[in-house]
Order: sequence, then structure tokens, then C-alpha cells
Amino acid sequence: MSASTGPVSLTQQLLRFDTINPTSPELPCAQYLAQLLEAGGFSVRLHEFAPGRTSLVAHAGGGSAAPLCFAGHLDTVPLGVAPWTHDPFAGETHAGRLYGRGSSDMKSGIAALTCAALDLVRSGLLRKAGLLLVFVAGEETGCEGAAHLARTAGALGPASAMVVGEPTDGVPLVGHKGALWLDARVRGVTAHGSMPERGVNAIYRAARAVAALEAFHFDIAPDPLLGRPTLNVGTIRGGLNVNSVPDEAVVGIDIRTIPSQRHAQVRAELARVLGPDVELTARVDVPGLRTEVTDPFVRQVFDVVAPRLGRCPEAASAPYFTDASILTPAFGGIPTVVLGPGALVQAHQTDEYAEVKCIEETTEVYRELARRWCGA
Ligand SMILES: [Zn+2]
Repeated sequence: MSASTGPVSLTQQLLRFDTINPTSPELPCAQYLAQLLEAGGFSVRLHEFAPGRTSLVAHAGGGSAAPLCFAGHLDTVPLGVAPWTHDPFAGETHAGRLYGRGSSDMKSGIAALTCAALDLVRSGLLRKAGLLLVFVAGEETGCEGAAHLARTAGALGPASAMVVGEPTDGVPLVGHKGALWLDARVRGVTAHGSMPERGVNAIYRAARAVAALEAFHFDIAPDPLLGRPTLNVGTIRGGLNVNSVPDEAVVGIDIRTIPSQRHAQVRAELARVLGPDVELTARVDVPGLRTEVTDPFVRQVFDVVAPRLGRCPEAASAPYFTDASILTPAFGGIPTVVLGPGALVQAHQTDEYAEVKCIEETTEVYRELARRWCGA
């Protein structure tokens, strides 16, 4: 392990740690990065939200201004049922692509942020502001690691702006929707399937709830960048066997919100529409993100990225949510950009890969951005 490790070989190292959420804890991967960063002059702290579910916070450099935050997650999604043609944990490269689970989402992002950060500390360029690295566990299941850091006193400290290295093909994105995932539980009374008149069928009640959800309409003006909020019924579970009246059914609802919506209000509105028989429980509840393109930090990101893209970037948004939902408000609403080397369409795919060239170029972008934002 050397401080001169490049971003591609560091991505390969990180891919060799299985950090599939929730079966393979992030601890060994976090420890590996902690050693690398400590050797490079960072002070590092590890925080666990559950045994082995370890997030890393590292800090170095700086003067009077609050540090720039580089953020990302260490966990990945499972491999899926389809077979892989490349070993998901070996870091194989072929024809300019680096394969593996998490290569795009987002171990290449973690590696690029880490290499840029180590280089900046080595060059002594962080005179005005330092760098704060926040690499969390448990993002894929609803930002658990970020939420734990946000509620742990003193874990994060201040930051002036943030880059989240999620996969964007190296294009900066200034916003994303929020997510409100609800379980709608409907109860009934069980009875023998031959005497349904003696029971109350929870599946019939759930079916009425599903029909109401399909007809549901958000009465709100679309966001100029993020468009309209959406609602999707993703799952339905109910009944134990065919010859009983089911006494419980659960409908899984995925709502993607825009910044002008308050989640508590959305939930209250749904509760009113679904009626008193339906009990709503939130499984994920994270607000959206949007930074104005006129913000000085966004202008600087656009300036740094423009030569590589061959054009000035426009305001654009991510289709997914990120840890910024938790971290940006925890830092007091700092300007935030999602920008990473992974490919947006590769996230969660079989034979996931990242372009080697984009990993190298995005590392340069991070380095130049921090040099401008944090330098004297
Ligand atoms: Zn991700």
C-alpha cells in the first residue's frame, strides 16, 4: 500500500473488498482507507452504526475557512441473479473498462476522491480551507451511515461546500428528488376460505388502497429542474394460503418528491386519501437536494469541468437520491454538487463497469476544484 497509488489501482483494491449491503460489512474496506489516509497526513475517525457497519471521517489541511467535503459510500448492492462474465471482486480491466460490483457505484468515486485528496495534502495546497472526507456505510438501504454521522455530536464538523462522487459520467449535477418509501398496512379478520362471510378480507381492502394510489395526483407545480413528484406502488404482500381469508396485506409505496414538498404533509395527504383502515410506516424518508447554478461553488465546478466536457455544463439533476439528502442539511445547507467518474447507467447492473479514462479525468477535476476552493 503506497500513497502514490493511482485512482484506477485504488478502485481495484476497493473492489476486492466485498461490501455488499447488508450481508458484508464495510469495516475492512473502511480500515484499509483509514490506513492509507493516515499515512497521507489525514486525521481519521471511524464510526459504526451497527457492528462492522463502519463509516470514515477524515480531515487534513486548512486555514480560516471551513473545509471542502468529499463524500461517498462504501457499500454496494447485491450481485443479482444473472451470472457475471467478469469476476465482480477481482478488479478486471478489459478494453478501457474496469469491471466489478461497485466499480461505477461508487468505488471509483471513492478512489478518485481519495487520490485527489492525498495529492493535495502532499503538495501543501490546502492553505485557506482543508478537506473533509466522509465515506459512509449503508447508503444503499437508505443513507443509514450518513444519518448516524448526522446525529452523532461532533462527528462531521463544519464544511463550506460538498462534492458527492456518485456516478454521473463526470458531469456535475446540482439536484435530485427526495424519497419517501412507505409501507401501507391493511388489516382484516381471518376465516376459513370456504366461509369468507365470517372474515374481513385484507387483500380486498389493499386492492381499494392500490386503486386510490393509482388515481392519486400531487397538486403541486412542477420544479423547474426536477419536474413533477412521482408515486409508484412497487410491492404488494398479503395472505398466507389460498384457503384462508387474509387478515393482513402490505402495499409498498415509492414516492419521489421535489424540494417544495414537505414529507410530513405528503404523508398526511396520503393518510387522508387511504382512510383510517390503512396504517402508514416510513421505511426511507430523505429529502431532495438542489443548489442554484448561480452559487459561486457551482460556478467554480462548472469552470473546472467545462474544458473536459468541451462545453459549459447546464443545470442537470440525478435520477437517484444520495447521502447529500442527509449530509447537506447536516452541514447547514451548503452548496452541493453530485459529480463522479462512474457511469450512471452502470449502477446496480450485472457486469458493472467504469471507464478507466473517466476515473483518471475525474480525479484531475477533483484535484483542480479543491486547489481553487481550498488554496490560498
Ligand atoms: Zn451510489
